[in-house]
Amino acid sequence: MPFYDLKCKCGEVFNVMASMSDKENRRIKCPRCGSVDLESVFSNVNVIQSRSAAKSECPNIHRCGGCCPME
Ligand SMILES: [Zn+2]
Repeated sequence: MPFYDLKCKCGEVFNVMASMSDKENRRIKCPRCGSVDLESVFSNVNVIQSRSAAKSECPNIHRCGGCCPME
């Protein structure tokens, strides 16, 4: 089963191992307040996504290929 990093509206961030259906059916509860209103936190994925987003939006894409690595 995959691990999920979840964030509750109460501010609690926790890591839980659950099946996809558990997550989709909101069977996961916040350990602090018991709410099922949770959003996923993809710490690693976010970095990758924001990098590729920056790549497509790079103003120098014609010059650097869109990555502007260490400038
Ligand atoms: Zn909570």
